[in-house]
Amino acid sequence: PKYVYRFSEGGMDQKDLLGGKGANLAEMSRLGLPVPPGFTITTEACRAYMRDGHVPPDLRVEVTLALRQVEDTLGRSLGDFHEPLLVSVRSGAKFSMPGMMETVLNVGLNDASVQGLTAVTGDERFAWDSYRRLLQMFGKTVLDIDGELFSGALDALKAERGVRDDTELSAEDLRGLVATYKDIVRERSGADFPQHPRQQLDMAVEAVLRSWNTDRAVLYRRQEGIPNDLGTAVNVQAMVFGNLGRTSGTGVCFTRDPSTGHSGVYGDYLPNAQGEDVVAGIRNTVPLADLESLDPDAYAELRQAMRRLETHYRDLCDIEFTIEDGRLWLLQTRVGKRTAAAAFRVATQLVDEDLITMDEAISRVTGAQLGKLLFPQFDAEADTELLTTGMAASPGAAVGEIVFDNAQAVERSEAGAPVILVRRETNPDDLQGMVVAAGILTARGGKTSHAAVVARGMGTCAVVGADELDVDAARREVRVGGRTLHAGDVIAIDGTSGQVFLGEVPVVDSPVMTYIAEGLDAGRAAAPDEETRELVEAVHRVLTHADGARTLRVRANADTAEDARNARERGAEGIGLCRTEHMFLGERRTLVERLILAADDAEREEALGALLAPQREDFVEILRAMDGLPTTIRLIDPPLHEFLPDLTELAVEVALAAERGQSDERRERLLTAVRRMHESNPMLGLRGVRLGLVVPGLFALQVRAIAQATAQLRGEGTDPRPEIMVPLVGSVRELQLVRQEAERVLAEEGRAADMLLDLPIGCMIELPRAALTAHRIAEQADFFSFGTNDLTQTTWGFSRDDVEAAFFSRYLANGVLRISPFETIDGEGVGPLVRAGVAGGRATKPRMHIGVCGEHGGDPESIHFFHDAGLDYVSCSPYRVPVARLEAGRAAV
Ligand code: ADP
Ligand code: MG
Ligand code: MG
Repeated sequence: PKYVYRFSEGGMDQKDLLGGKGANLAEMSRLGLPVPPGFTITTEACRAYMRDGHVPPDLRVEVTLALRQVEDTLGRSLGDFHEPLLVSVRSGAKFSMPGMMETVLNVGLNDASVQGLTAVTGDERFAWDSYRRLLQMFGKTVLDIDGELFSGALDALKAERGVRDDTELSAEDLRGLVATYKDIVRERSGADFPQHPRQQLDMAVEAVLRSWNTDRAVLYRRQEGIPNDLGTAVNVQAMVFGNLGRTSGTGVCFTRDPSTGHSGVYGDYLPNAQGEDVVAGIRNTVPLADLESLDPDAYAELRQAMRRLETHYRDLCDIEFTIEDGRLWLLQTRVGKRTAAAAFRVATQLVDEDLITMDEAISRVTGAQLGKLLFPQFDAEADTELLTTGMAASPGAAVGEIVFDNAQAVERSEAGAPVILVRRETNPDDLQGMVVAAGILTARGGKTSHAAVVARGMGTCAVVGADELDVDAARREVRVGGRTLHAGDVIAIDGTSGQVFLGEVPVVDSPVMTYIAEGLDAGRAAAPDEETRELVEAVHRVLTHADGARTLRVRANADTAEDARNARERGAEGIGLCRTEHMFLGERRTLVERLILAADDAEREEALGALLAPQREDFVEILRAMDGLPTTIRLIDPPLHEFLPDLTELAVEVALAAERGQSDERRERLLTAVRRMHESNPMLGLRGVRLGLVVPGLFALQVRAIAQATAQLRGEGTDPRPEIMVPLVGSVRELQLVRQEAERVLAEEGRAADMLLDLPIGCMIELPRAALTAHRIAEQADFFSFGTNDLTQTTWGFSRDDVEAAFFSRYLANGVLRISPFETIDGEGVGPLVRAGVAGGRATKPRMHIGVCGEHGGDPESIHFFHDAGLDYVSCSPYRVPVARLEAGRAAV
């Protein structure tokens, strides 16, 4: 393969091969912008290096050829005695990994070329300063020498001369420092600093390749979910110098305000300095606008380049530049990172400037960004005391008492106090505490640590890896910044920013959420300032466009009338999953017990009869709230023993009663029933359609309640649209049996109410067998809905409740999983089953209506998959509806 690309050969679409930095340097060169010449060694070379343990032999030759071209262009050669070419050797992977990998500047300087550099620039001090910088960077990153040794020597010299700033050291001082540095190199690496320029270059290239796998880079990738096998590219580029006196300098800029999107001049400039000084914060920068008076020509040229780049990328760009003796050079650009709020504002701003279309605008923002804007936030006006900042692992804002263990967490939250579980790190034993906590805070671990994974799964706010925290669970205290907090002290954590505050902080609804729920005017009114008002308007425009563009409908999972109203407010176009299990809970449990203990048909009928009226009322409420919109009602799904007393508790109770001689025959019968119904794997046991076929009258009761509710509402003049959904079907015969019974009940109730009740009857596709026999099942189904939670469980053989807490963080760390398959649909393993189900269903019934319910329906990446798979709708939690609307729109454009 070809391992080296000259800048003139590449382009911005080649980030996989050239890395982000390399691809954009190539793009800028091709645009004719002033980029110092150079070339990029591909990520493929890095992968070969990782595989073989040495650089590919062809690479040396290719580097020679590319280097000669640079030399010819500039008329200088690397490390030459007279007029030396110096190069930078810069890392740059596909995804930016700020500060994680290495860059070596000034490669090519040696005892001879430092003289040449002096002669060309007429600046002896500058030449020796550049040389000592090379020794320092090379020593540290290439030779792996402790960087403190170099900076220590520099500090010692400054102290000796009694100066504070590097710039106050003389050429003579720096020459001495170079000698000291060479001694350090010889002593620590056992060899002299390599004088040969090409040897320096080769060693620096190898060091950059190696830096892909430093511990911190590996850790960073794990936290950010960046695959480990991509590799970094290496950019070799002619050096330009911003530190050649007052007509030189370096800076960074944005093509428009990164937070509002408004165009203008945003950036920092540092006269007489090199790029690394800006990052290191050695001296204070001046606002970019000051460049206009310092160097009007360079400023004008920069403004023009900014405009060129923004027009070319049609997006906000950030840029690194250097001015060498009045001449502008661009050293890096990329489409600038931005906050969620900025993404919406920038996108609509670009539309207003006719740089992009609305279709493009919706592709420039993400559901995840919108999701962030919907969470309640800490009141920005409130006085806060920041304790520390960790990693934002699961969004939201939580306030509560500190607790250190499960027992405390349960005790305090049962007493009605919201709690924040504070741990050094969490493990599966902490699950109980995590479930009841309003927020989770850990001192260790990253975004795929146990705490982070479980918190996201539960939708609980979490901050992890706040490493300034010293958690002492044994003494029930946590120390941070000289302060000691105890169990019961109140803290507030922000899972969107990672901040941890002392004491109560008021939580407010986000104005964007107010807009979603109550409309544009309310959202505008809730905005505390002009910027937020612009944000609300931007979200409105983007979301409205997405709604118009999408072909997927968005429904919500809602079990009660209250949920249904919430869902409608947020734009849901129906209910995709109304669970009915809660209709058997509370006081109705005793009726379930009676149903199970029924000795004969009469007793059973009586128990069922008693459940009818209350269930009908539930359905009336929900269907009324969803007037005119489809409402998919799932018949009872979980195993019946979930409605019965706990086996152990009941056994103890019965035994104690017997000891006291007060045996209760009913309790004993119940115990026998509970024992009989006990299952080793309830998830795979008697549940869903199986239950409906085994317990006579159970499904019929539910269908009757739905039918009566429908008849009643129609009588009142509303338009109820229930759809009856049968869970856990694996065979067409199961559905056929249920359907026969349901149709009988519907006909009966229709006759009684004197109306036609031909409600749609369909089923969930949540077992591999159902997906694979969908063409058969479709014979009996009016619609399908994919239950991707169960489909994932049964495809992987995972029990979600057990495996997530037990070992998912391990699986994410070692790369078996890239992301939890319960968070984002496993396109590789579960995806084909979904596609097979769709194909099968539509083979039998070409217009079969098909949706998905379950958590995946609200996950951005999964929504794109469902769009591609040809589904009609997704259904997700009411809260996620706006996110799903946006992502469905993005999937369609
Ligand atoms: P990072 O990705 O950490 O920003 P860079 O590769 O961009 O690392 O380089 C670090 C610093 O060195 C930047 O400020 C950059 O502008 C500067 N730099 C890199 N290459 C050159 C060069 N050829 N001439 C002058 N400065 C350079
Ligand atoms: Mg950079
Ligand atoms: Mg299910």
